Amino acid sequence: MAQIDTLPPLREVIAAHGLNAKKSLGQNFLLDLNLTSRIARSAGNLEDCTVLEIGPGPGGLTRALLAAGAKKVVAIEKDSRCLPALSEISDHYPGRLDVVEGDALDLDPVELTGGGKVRIAANLPYNVGTQLLLNWITTPEWPPFWSSLTLMFQKEVGERITAKQGSKAYGRLGVLAGWRCKGGILFDISPKAFIPPPKVTSAVVHLEPNPNPLPCDLKALEKVTAAAFGQRRKMLRASLKSLSPEAEDLITQSGLKPTARAEEIDVPGFVELANVFQAAQG
Ligand code: SAM
Repeated sequence: MAQIDTLPPLREVIAAHGLNAKKSLGQNFLLDLNLTSRIARSAGNLEDCTVLEIGPGPGGLTRALLAAGAKKVVAIEKDSRCLPALSEISDHYPGRLDVVEGDALDLDPVELTGGGKVRIAANLPYNVGTQLLLNWITTPEWPPFWSSLTLMFQKEVGERITAKQGSKAYGRLGVLAGWRCKGGILFDISPKAFIPPPKVTSAVVHLEPNPNPLPCDLKALEKVTAAAFGQRRKMLRASLKSLSPEAEDLITQSGLKPTARAEEIDVPGFVELANVFQAAQG
């Protein structure tokens, strides 16, 4: 196994601090430093930026990010049991690691990272991963505060984020991510690489902001995709009726067939639908 620093191996860190994994916190620790280094490298050049990491746990990915040269890592961890292990990493890399104890859903990432270039890298806790991603890709200001996201999800979630029109995994998440971001799945990680092993394969997704997404109101796009995919087996003329009694006409005005189903509509199609429905509502 790779030696990336002179800190103790992660297995020893976990044993020394009694970090038996808690399911309620989505804790599956990645011990293979070859893999954590691969994720850190996938995040791009870290030397000129602050890396925001969610859920450092015992610090495997944190160490890889610092060893890869991250100017600064700001890591948010909910489990206070991990703090002593993380403070040993801080001591090893003076001035380069800030650990914030708390729930990433409640904290303001812009305030914590303090401006400048920010990359986000994390092995996300599965129970809040999708919500965190949605928060980052639906920020009102665009381009957003981050310049890349390198995130590990359950593979099925990674497939939904990167899904294209016509595939089973395509839905609201794929439309929002496809509208505002570019990128894809970089590689899979087997359950065997984790302690304890999760039930499913994981995938590392890398996304960068699309600098010029097609003009569209975010709320309108969210409304149309929620209605269309909420009843994905129905034709658009039925699934979008809840948004307007004129749904059929508005779909035709958008250049789409009222008999089409949500999964047949590509991202520009949804953008057009959102714009036409929003204009009709004045
Ligand atoms: N980064 C470590 C690794 O790769 O081995 C741990 C990843 S583990 C899948 C998820 C981590 O997120 C755990 O350390 C857990 O305590 C933490 N966590 C869970 N929910 C959180 C939340 N809402 N905010 C911040 N951290 C959270």
